Amino acid sequence: MIEVQDLVKNYGPVTAVKGISFIAQPGQVTGFLGPNGAGKTTTMRMLTGFLPPTSGKALVAGFDVFDQSMEVRKRVGYLPESVPLYRDMTALSYLMYIGEIRGVPRRRDKAMETLERVALTSRANSRIRTLSKGMRQRVGLASALLHDPDVLILDEPTIGLDPIQVLELREVVRDLGKHHTVLFSTHILSEAEQICDKVVIINQGQIIAQGAPSELRSNLERGGRVLLRVNVPPEVALSAVQAVPEVSHAEVNLDSIVAAPAQIGIDPRPAIARAIVQQGWDLVELRPLAVNLEEIFLELTRQQVVADVPTEPELESEVVQ
Ligand code: ATP
Repeated sequence: MIEVQDLVKNYGPVTAVKGISFIAQPGQVTGFLGPNGAGKTTTMRMLTGFLPPTSGKALVAGFDVFDQSMEVRKRVGYLPESVPLYRDMTALSYLMYIGEIRGVPRRRDKAMETLERVALTSRANSRIRTLSKGMRQRVGLASALLHDPDVLILDEPTIGLDPIQVLELREVVRDLGKHHTVLFSTHILSEAEQICDKVVIINQGQIIAQGAPSELRSNLERGGRVLLRVNVPPEVALSAVQAVPEVSHAEVNLDSIVAAPAQIGIDPRPAIARAIVQQGWDLVELRPLAVNLEEIFLELTRQQVVADVPTEPELESEVVQ
């Protein structure tokens, strides 16, 4: 299990991680999702016990990353974004070498077992430089797994792989999630949706949403945009929908109207329904707009940008300074 509470990391004047909290459960793949520079790698490195946090707390397999970093390192398998592999070694000899450094008993057997877990047994005696990028990534994954860690931290493991290699690696990760606590970072939303039981969305060092992909979707649907069809052309009904106080914005979308609520968390559907009926029209359809993780991410980062825009007095005081 990974438990993170108010974790902060400053690099000099830059605050890369701004007080994040989340839990990753055993037996699940938790997706750590965010655009470039969001703070994913920084957070993951703190969770491996190699980068001390500025403040806050993180427990990995029950040990504190700051006070008990050696215990944490024993229980974490880390796959960094670019894996340093010795290209002239064979996959097997490389894993035996890593096993020796980590004091793994029965090194040869353990290395072979681990190669089997990442579906690479047939290439055990191939030199690493002759392996494809996807296979090399799996050797990296095997080295992260070699000491039987409780927790696996994988930093964008599918980056740079071809589509078949991506599918193969996702399958391996999904399988590992059954027996380990897996934290898996990605900036590919569909990837998180496909393989993660839970998703933590991070942007500009802050968590902006977390939950099961389906939960995030239904939360956003509850307080999010709605789609309606009326028995008159949408262009005719548009102004009546725009006039509803619970609606901030409405536009025509093919034969329908899509309306955004005036405030997240407020369902505008009852007010829209009343407005349509008052006009003497029939409501043919009124439902939450189906959203995927991509739309959730865009919507949440849009809300954050809106929230981050300084108010006018702040702008004035900046000008005065
Ligand atoms: P990417 O997907 O591009 O790797 P990320 O989500 O992993 O992004 P981080 O690498 O954690 O993000 O970076 C978060 C912020 O911290 C960025 O603004 C980055 O420029 C900054 N940063 C990262 N490492 C350092 C460092 N060693 N010194 C100063 N700033 C850093």
